[in-house]
Amino acid sequence: MKTTVKNTQVTEDIFNQVDQLWDEEVEFLQEIGRYPTTLGNEQALQNYLAKHFEEMELDVDQFVPDMKELSSHPGFSVPEWGYDGRTVVVAKAPGADVKKGKSLIYQGHIDVVSPEPVSAWSYDPWGSTIKDGKMYGRGIQDMKSGVAAMIYAYKAVRAAGYRPAADFMLQTVIEEECTGNGALAALEKGYTADGALIPEPFGYKATKSQVGVMWMRVKVKGLGAHTERASEAVNAIEKLYVMMDALKKYRTHINEEPKHPDFAEHPHPLNVNIGTIQGGDWPSNVPSEATLEARVGFYPGQDPDEIKANVKEWLLEAAKEDEWLRECPPEITFYGFHAEGFALDDQSELFQVLDSAHETVLQTPPERSILTATTDARFFNLYYDIPCTCYGPTGGNMHGIDEWVDLESVKNVTKVYADFLVNWCGVVKEEK
Ligand SMILES: [Zn+2]
Repeated sequence: MKTTVKNTQVTEDIFNQVDQLWDEEVEFLQEIGRYPTTLGNEQALQNYLAKHFEEMELDVDQFVPDMKELSSHPGFSVPEWGYDGRTVVVAKAPGADVKKGKSLIYQGHIDVVSPEPVSAWSYDPWGSTIKDGKMYGRGIQDMKSGVAAMIYAYKAVRAAGYRPAADFMLQTVIEEECTGNGALAALEKGYTADGALIPEPFGYKATKSQVGVMWMRVKVKGLGAHTERASEAVNAIEKLYVMMDALKKYRTHINEEPKHPDFAEHPHPLNVNIGTIQGGDWPSNVPSEATLEARVGFYPGQDPDEIKANVKEWLLEAAKEDEWLRECPPEITFYGFHAEGFALDDQSELFQVLDSAHETVLQTPPERSILTATTDARFFNLYYDIPCTCYGPTGGNMHGIDEWVDLESVKNVTKVYADFLVNWCGVVKEEK
């Protein structure tokens, strides 16, 4: 059931504005792509965006996530870094006729993962290079392209002479790639709505389900000694191999268990990734300590605390098989992502309005994605009863070398988001 009747003339006017504004949107994406917004380096871009939103005559709130307040929330992830001077930006357009539509949030994260090894790139990761209809750069696909699309969707609505009938918000958040605490902070601060979309760049497919994710650290101690007496020493790096093998076996084990129905077709839905290893400081020294950090996936409906307990037990069991680790067990700790998964009803009104917008713009049947990664959409759905899904542009090499976005898809997604805004929020023609 739609609450507003589709007005094709309105949509056409707004789509024309997306076309008119397209060169500006590309330049805007290039501009925000040049900010190297890795963890802890997001603020210059957040300030730029806050100013941009003010120029768009939106009511802007820029605030630092309050860790004390968030720490008791079930969706909170424990960070190992501070939040001083690191803000979330919320820009609001108060509804022009709130009885007419439903309130809406468009949210994007502006943090990006490391571009290393930069030497392997063919393009400057912060150069926003355009070639053959693609724009290259770290974070250009994930997800500055989506951020540009959601902002220009609203701009096109305004340029066509309309205002959202219900309250509408643009939000840019930090820490999607490590905790989600930015998105959580916005919701906890009371910035909620009747629905939300996140233009994550998974390519014209609305997210139906996503896995849970948690991060862990495993530290193993050895007995450091000079290599001359290495036979008496215990090499921590070699002992860390025992833990790495155990984690790989855990990965096989969890993927052999019965799958969550949404993931039944996926050959290997639950990834366990060993992401970092550290240990040793000199070729001729026996390392006395070695550490790995890993990311563990799990199904919607599974409790992250339970998964943490399971993995810990699995590794401690494996440690018992080793003479040294039995005496000197590994230290297993958790930080960063503590993210539950979710599975949505993809016939809800949010999906219907999105499907219709997709069909209007792309003229193809709507599709779904089942994510083997996490996104900020979990907070809306799990803890605030706000229907939320991800839908965004297409591209390639996300999180990898030479990440790129397909510019045509950015334009199409801008139109889909404009159409969604019209049909979810409702619009009111401005008096001249
Ligand atoms: Zn992302």
